[in-house]
Amino acid sequence: MAQKWQLDSWRAKPVQQAPVYPDPAALKAMETRLRRVPPLVFAGEARRLKASLAKVADGKAFLLQGGDCAESFAEFHPDNIRDTFRVLLQMAVVLTYGAACPVVKVGRLAGQFAKPRSAPTEKIGDVELPAYRGDIVNNLDFTPESRTPDPERLMLAYSQAAATLNLLRAFAQGGYADLHQVHRWNMGFVSRSPQGARYQEMAARLTETLNFMEACGLTSETTPQIRETDFFTSHEALLLPYEEALTRVDSTSGDWYDVSAHMLWIGDRTRQIDGAHVEFLRGVKNPIGLKCGPSMEPDGLLKLIDVLNPENEPGRLTLIARMGSDKVDTKLAPLIRAVHREGRSVVWSCDPMHGNTIKSSTGYKTRPFDRVLAEVRGFFAVHQAEGTYAGGIHLELTGQDVTECLAILGARVPCRRSPQTRAERTRSTPRRRRVLSRPPPIRPTIP
Ligand code: PEP
Repeated sequence: MAQKWQLDSWRAKPVQQAPVYPDPAALKAMETRLRRVPPLVFAGEARRLKASLAKVADGKAFLLQGGDCAESFAEFHPDNIRDTFRVLLQMAVVLTYGAACPVVKVGRLAGQFAKPRSAPTEKIGDVELPAYRGDIVNNLDFTPESRTPDPERLMLAYSQAAATLNLLRAFAQGGYADLHQVHRWNMGFVSRSPQGARYQEMAARLTETLNFMEACGLTSETTPQIRETDFFTSHEALLLPYEEALTRVDSTSGDWYDVSAHMLWIGDRTRQIDGAHVEFLRGVKNPIGLKCGPSMEPDGLLKLIDVLNPENEPGRLTLIARMGSDKVDTKLAPLIRAVHREGRSVVWSCDPMHGNTIKSSTGYKTRPFDRVLAEVRGFFAVHQAEGTYAGGIHLELTGQDVTECLAILGARVPCRRSPQTRAERTRSTPRRRRVLSRPPPIRPTIP
């Protein structure tokens, strides 16, 4: 029988990827302050997302989850938030129109600050310092001061998440997402590409449809579904002191909700069944995600599902497969079969970014776009062969004109700049590189 869950029961478990704070008392004081701040989301909203994801699990909707690799304090700007939101709207409208299927929109936004790292420290020459773990923990500069985990950053991250969410709510509800704006969502640099032209054609058809609907009396004024959209937030629940401080009892249901985002996910490096991250997230009622990399075995996955979704509640659990394009064929099918055989209700989503990172000859970590695409295609093909539903996609993306994905299709692939190590930055003398006809800045990523 499962041990009783408590808000802090994760603290008795082994915790991976945890920064070492030199002043634990300062961290405790920050947790106390954070316990008093207003929630960023409401439990009712998380339940609404769960209900939408239940439709995805049932094959009646599609999940689009995307946004920053990691949000940063330095790049915090309303234009960046708007541009990411706008790309997601564009993608959602194309998917909705093309597949005639509702699209559940979830941003990797308003809280995606902490990153898992492959090593706890970074060494340059003879100097070894703590690894950069995202702006909520420490700073990228390679100095002892910058790299020292600082509890004050938790409050800065909370404040930035609150302001970001405020703007996202305004965009989603205040007219920006009105379908009549569909032409205006075409981004400056994308609009000049072949994809931009195809988008404009689709937008023109949609406008014709809206004109017809208007003639029938369905307008933005009479039909809120035309005027506004549901937009939810998510991030990796990596920094558990922050997540614990933002976890509250919902007065309506009496259940615990992590009110830092609508949806939280467990990363591929922190999904140990007896580990702190699984322990923490099993006790909150939000919809949750679980990254499934190539080392995930069917038995292990079923055990994790038992722990994370013991009541087999539809919409509770999204399995985010990130196998890599070369492994998706062989590794995904056994997992799908086991889950299907045991009658577990899950959303299957594809993250084609994190299993396809390679180091280029310059030392950059990049993602070849053909591999990203191959993993998406493989994911859909495996589901088709198994007779199961490929329910969603999970992307790192940005509305900015940057790339960390090397395209060979003549198209630009907007991907969010990722935090990079100092060593990577010092190698990155050329900011631009002749890969495409009009080369965008190359931005390295972390695996
Ligand atoms: C991420 O999504 O930012 C990430 C690090 O993914 P993963 O846990 O799948 O490696």
